[in-house]
This record gives sequence, C-alpha cells and structure tokens, in this order.
Amino acid sequence: MIDEIRNMPKVLLHIHLDGSISIPTLSKLSGLSNEEVKSKCVLTNNSEQGDYYSYIDFCNNYTQTKENLYIVSKDLVDNLVKENVIYAEVRLTPCMHMEKGLYFDDIISSVLAGLNSNPNIKVNLIICLMRGATKYMNSETLKYARKYLDRGVCGIDITGDELAYPLSLYSDFFKLATLEKIPFAIHAGDKSADDVYEALVLHSKRISSGIKSTMDINLLRLVYYKKVMLELCPTSNIMKKIVSDMSIHPANFFLHNNFNISINTNNMTVENTNITNEYMKLMETFNFTKEDFIKMNVNAIESSFLSKEEKNKYKKYFV
Ligand SMILES: [Zn+2]
Repeated sequence: MIDEIRNMPKVLLHIHLDGSISIPTLSKLSGLSNEEVKSKCVLTNNSEQGDYYSYIDFCNNYTQTKENLYIVSKDLVDNLVKENVIYAEVRLTPCMHMEKGLYFDDIISSVLAGLNSNPNIKVNLIICLMRGATKYMNSETLKYARKYLDRGVCGIDITGDELAYPLSLYSDFFKLATLEKIPFAIHAGDKSADDVYEALVLHSKRISSGIKSTMDINLLRLVYYKKVMLELCPTSNIMKKIVSDMSIHPANFFLHNNFNISINTNNMTVENTNITNEYMKLMETFNFTKEDFIKMNVNAIESSFLSKEEKNKYKKYFV
C-alpha cells in the first residue's frame, strides 16, 4: 500500500524550505553524523515547546550562502519527486538567511535555481514575512516578493509566533498586497481563533492550519461558507502540541463536512514526516480512501496560486 500511496500524484501547498532539508544533506553541510544531526533538528515526543524554533535555527546555520541555498533547494525538490509531488508551493522566509550578508536577490535567485533544477516537478515560492521582524524588514520582504512575482514567486505569507505577535499588527502588509494583486495565504489558527478572524477580515483565501477555528462555531461557519482553503499539516499539528493525538485531528471532520482542505507536511525534517507518511497516517486513523486524497489534491490545485491554464493542466493528473 505504501508504494501505491508514494506513487500517487500529489500537490503540496504548504512546505517550508528550511525545516525540510534532508538529514543526509544537513550531515554533508555540517560535517556531523546523521545521528548527531537528528538529535539537533528532529522533534520527538519528549521535545520541549521551545525546541521547535531552535531546531529550525540549527537547520538555518547551513542556509547562509548562495551555494548552500542552491544545494538545500535542489535536495528538497529531488526528495519531493521521489514521492511523485507534481506541484508544490514552497515557503521561504528570506530574513532567516541573512546572517552572513546575503540579501533578497541572492537568496531568492539561489533558491529558485535549486527548485527549478528538477524537470519532473513544478515549484513556486511563497515569500514569508515574519512576525516579530522590523517593519522595514517586512516592507523589504513584500517589495522583493513583488519584484519576483510571476518569476518563480506566486505569493506571500507570514510566519512566526502567533501569540506574541498577533496578525492585526501586520494587517497593513496584506491590505497592500491586496491592492497590488499579490496573492497571499496566512499562517493563522495554530494558537488563536482571533488570528483566523483577522485573516478572514483580510480576505485570505488560504489559512494554515486554522485548527483553532474548530473552537468557535461561528468562525467555523465563516470558513466553510467562504470556502477558505485550510492547509492542514496533521503531524506538524501533533508535534507542535496543537492537537494531542491523530485520532482527534479535525481532518476527519473537515473532510466529511466538505470543507476545502488539503494535506501538507509543513517542516518535513523537523517534524519527521513526508507527504506519503501523512497520507498513510490518515488512511490508518480515519480510513481515508484514494478518492478522498484525489478530492483533496483537486482542492489544492483549485486553491493554488497557479494560473487558470496551469490549474487545468494539473487537474488532468487526477481524472
Ligand atoms: Zn507553516
């Protein structure tokens, strides 16, 4: 069964470059053994709450040069192709790659070169603003997302600590993006339902992961009627202790009540998963069928930032 799932065509709307660099590549770049690398960047059931960001920081020790950004981006797409991912929208947070003096052009162009190195997958970048970053840095991030829009970049998002930095602090960036016709998705609802409301006020058509909207029936109705795409990342939700156990993950509720959802990995390495593993876990826990996965992949294409023509092209993989 696992081979059948691995070979299914798949669309990924939500995956971060820096948290998804493979262990062998991190080992090569760091000079550490695979086991040493794992101990520094793979969450376990015993991990502390604070480990998540320090593990991402460990990965980003090796993403500070153009050469390494190319290597880790190529590593990512080569691994996605092994799971028959045909289209992916990869998150990049440029301000995390500036420790050794790189700036936006170098970072974005090196990553795009790596992502475009495998002809068996199409990848677009979603450029992330950062909660907690300076207004200047987030303005620059938006400026460069605009510069590369339709040249490998398909939209923006915002990442970082939801509770410490509520979305309302950054709403002007998304209002500007709307005026400038820059598509966006928003990380919201991992920790707070308020941020999901705020994302809806900003007319976000995509939210990741929106889990906390299940705490509020009115919010849930809004998400449903607006057909907002919920980019679900089940293992990530559990590793980050947003959901205590897969058996109570709301993916099952969302699927059977016709919400617009897709299945994603978030940070493959840090959260010790891949997209085949996500599908397998949902099959084992909730008896999701191949038809369910086809439906969610079609949802993902419809809600992607691809052009209409490209959407039609990728939908053909699922008929
Ligand atoms: Zn994410």
